[in-house]
Amino acid sequence: MSNIIRVGVLGFGGLGQAAARVLAPKSEMILVAAADKKGYVYNPEGLDPNTCITTYNSQGSVGHVKHGGVLSNDSIADLIENSNVDGFFLALPNLPNTFMADVTRQFVKSGWKGVLVDALKRTSAMEQIFTLRDDVKDAGITYMTGCGATPGLLTAAASVAAQSYAEIHSVKITFGVGIANWEAYRATIREDIAHMPAFDVEKARAMTDAEVEALLDETNGIISLENMEHADDVMLEMAGICSRDQVTVGGIVDTRNPKKPLSTNVQVTGRTFEGKLSTHTFTLGDETSMAANVCGPAFGYLKTGVWLQKQGLSGIFTAAEMMPRFVR
Ligand code: NAD
Repeated sequence: MSNIIRVGVLGFGGLGQAAARVLAPKSEMILVAAADKKGYVYNPEGLDPNTCITTYNSQGSVGHVKHGGVLSNDSIADLIENSNVDGFFLALPNLPNTFMADVTRQFVKSGWKGVLVDALKRTSAMEQIFTLRDDVKDAGITYMTGCGATPGLLTAAASVAAQSYAEIHSVKITFGVGIANWEAYRATIREDIAHMPAFDVEKARAMTDAEVEALLDETNGIISLENMEHADDVMLEMAGICSRDQVTVGGIVDTRNPKKPLSTNVQVTGRTFEGKLSTHTFTLGDETSMAANVCGPAFGYLKTGVWLQKQGLSGIFTAAEMMPRFVR
């Protein structure tokens, strides 16, 4: 492994494209690979994010990129086989709810060694990842799970904030997301719809784009969510902070306005050793986008994963158990 971390991004939609732009000015990481549903691109010298984004948006796949692009219906497997990558950010839709676990099995089976980072959201999806703990460890893969914004940045903040207390009473995550149009983040929005009353993952997955449009027309583009099944709960439980039923996650997504409908925050309430009840609140700046708050932490945790790998540590780790390292 050279000192510069060679990165691949799987999934080149909203988050994948933002990830490519986040990496562009970095000197410690270089984007060498990207894949979408219809193809992949690999260039060990580095990829130009603008070329990849323009090609994806005009021709439907990074497989059309002139240098290194390959069209494929099995792009992830083909990319693993034909590339040299230290770590992948999995910016893939988790639709169906078993998809990320299937991709992980694919990595294990391929004999690939390196770091994987996901921004997985559902508790039940992360629990599937945990069942692969031994396989991942034996394969020599260091897998960082739940490393987006929530779960991710906010879960890690809760884990740090909890240290002031002798006893944790509650962790309450409230997020506000504003995006200009839902098509830029189709998987994110479908997965959010899946949390709405009367919906589930399969129903949301089966919806056509026109049906999503119609639903958003009814709500004026707003999705309000309460008591979501979010893996922050299992991550904080595993980190020994509190039990999962003390963690609540909810929020508002505005799919028609990049301005956040409310300030994203996490409140950690507990009792100190002196018996005082208190709440720590960590609030994200309103100017920071979902993409900034997901991709930044994801690469920070990828760097941590590489650091763990260098010490011979493989297996599965969550954002609540580790600190992200800042990528320069
Ligand atoms: P998107 O719909 O914009 O893009 C998905 C991409 O994945 C597309 O490029 C598509 O071609 C590709 N893809 C789909 N199936 C594939 C396959 N079989 N092989 C290769 N590529 C495939 O998605 P998005 O809105 O950017 O969201 C990505 C994920 O990030 C979602 O699962 C979402 O829940 C998650 N997310 C997490 C957080 C967090 O804070 N943890 C926040 C936002 C989004």
